[in-house]
Amino acid sequence: MNCIFCKIVSGEIPSKFLYEGERVVAFEDLNPQAPTHILIVPKSHHENAADLSLGDPSALLEIFKAAKQLANERELEGYRTVFNTGAAAGQSVFHAHLHLLAGRALGWPPG
Ligand code: 5GP
Ligand code: ZN
Repeated sequence: MNCIFCKIVSGEIPSKFLYEGERVVAFEDLNPQAPTHILIVPKSHHENAADLSLGDPSALLEIFKAAKQLANERELEGYRTVFNTGAAAGQSVFHAHLHLLAGRALGWPPG
């Protein structure tokens, strides 16, 4: 399978991990949309968050644990967490990942 996030998880593409736990890693987004834009990614390959919840529920829990840890480390006042599911919703990498965004005013509703 030619999955960019599987390659990052395995180390085939070298990356700096901001968090690494049993089932999850986190790294900076290549094209940040906010001063803090971190991707929190399960080590197991599932196409989206809903599939992850069925296939590796422990990883889904660890993703939010990692979000909290990263927010605490950075003393973020608030942050937004986003899972895009499907191309129509903006998903471009089909390996589940949580966006952690912070550091600027975040509008609502999102674009
Ligand atoms: P999606 O559009 O699927 O919700 O989010 C995919 C995210 O992955 C995008 O924000 C994009 O900038 C980021 N991205 C794509 N390829 C790479 C990569 O090779 N390295 C990193 N660090 N981020 C990537
Ligand atoms: Zn993958």
